[in-house]
Amino acid sequence: MKHCLFCQIARRERPGRIVFEDDSVVAFEDLNPQAPVHILIIPKKHLAGLDEAAAEDEALLGHVQRVAAQLAADRSVSRSGYRTVLNVGPHAGQSVFHLHLHLIGGRPMRWPPG
Ligand code: AMP
Ligand code: ZN
Repeated sequence: MKHCLFCQIARRERPGRIVFEDDSVVAFEDLNPQAPVHILIIPKKHLAGLDEAAAEDEALLGHVQRVAAQLAADRSVSRSGYRTVLNVGPHAGQSVFHLHLHLIGGRPMRWPPG
């Protein structure tokens, strides 16, 4: 999508610290990290959020999660643990309307989340 922030990062039209890319996803460092490891994994396909994902996107969503696990291993937080978070809508605080999975790790986290 032309004016979407995360589409623009994926297309290198805006700066972003990209740490991984393949045919279907891009991962980059969160601009405002909430933990020592905070990476966003996005599908290259523009989906505003989880509600827009269709049956045909199931493999893509699974791939996004598996890339998160691989990046967690690359950053050596697999054993200590990490969290993947996908915020949807106002109560969850979604602020960017291109589906993105947060990979957060490197410190203990509380449950339930705030
Ligand atoms: P959410 O609240 O789930 O929509 O999260 C959006 C995330 O995008 C936040 O953690 C922001 O810090 C992050 N963010 C916003 N703009 C940028 C950007 N230009 N580059 C990297 N991360 C960003
Ligand atoms: Zn987009």
